[in-house]
Amino acid sequence: SRTIALRDVSKRYGRESYAVERVSLTVEPGEFLVLLGPSGCGKSTVLRMIAGLEDITEGELYLDGEYANHVPPRERDIAMVFQSFALYPNMTSRANIGFPLRLRDPATDHEPQIEATARMLAIEDLLDRYPGQLSGGERQRVAMGRALSRHPSVFLMDEPLSSLDAKLRGHLRAEIARLTEELGVTTVYVTHDQAEVMSLGHRVAVMRGGVLQQVSSPRDAYAL
Ligand code: ADP
Ligand code: ADP
Repeated sequence: SRTIALRDVSKRYGRESYAVERVSLTVEPGEFLVLLGPSGCGKSTVLRMIAGLEDITEGELYLDGEYANHVPPRERDIAMVFQSFALYPNMTSRANIGFPLRLRDPATDHEPQIEATARMLAIEDLLDRYPGQLSGGERQRVAMGRALSRHPSVFLMDEPLSSLDAKLRGHLRAEIARLTEELGVTTVYVTHDQAEVMSLGHRVAVMRGGVLQQVSSPRDAYAL
């Protein structure tokens, strides 16, 4: 796991007003930070800048103390899971989970690593199915498996449970807490769901209108 530090980070898309303005924030190694706020307040933009999927307009990003604004996404050792399960539809779960491993190291047999990841997520029985043969919750588990199979040091999640029903959300929420703790991965989790905030976050960063309003305990985040 590693430290993520944002120093006065701002983002402008083209000539529009700032989507994110002077956000400063440090996420400690192994910490689970929840990024909370209404739709359009800049949460996804912050995640995408950390992942290197979006340029930083002003300010600095440091990964383990190293200036990282221009480090290519692939060299950041960061995995990301989105709201919509972006699995490859023509690949089995096994192939989806193994994809990032094959990409980095085509010569090695990744089967043991795939099996270990599947055990961790209790999806051993789903490895030979295609995404179309999986439920929403199963698909999201496979998506997490794909993100985590290569043991990233940073895990970014953008509303990963919001398209699931309430029961499944509760179940997967507990899984995510257990899994990230077990892996000791530095995690930033975007949501606007109060139950997720209360059960997941070590700390909660609250954004509004592109600005970071406060960083606090989950309890204090709702005492505003
Ligand atoms: P959130 O994740 O909190 O919903 P976003 O980071 O997606 O917020 O968006 C923040 C603001 O930036 C919004 O006003 C949104 O319309 C704008 N925005 C996001 N992505 C783009 C983009 N690719 N081009 C232009 N504006 C964008
Ligand atoms: P969210 O669930 O985070 O609110 P959005 O629906 O706002 O997601 O954004 C989905 C995608 O569209 C993202 O890739 C985002 O960068 C892009 N996007 C969001 N707002 C705009 C915008 N105003 N102009 C162009 N692209 C945008």
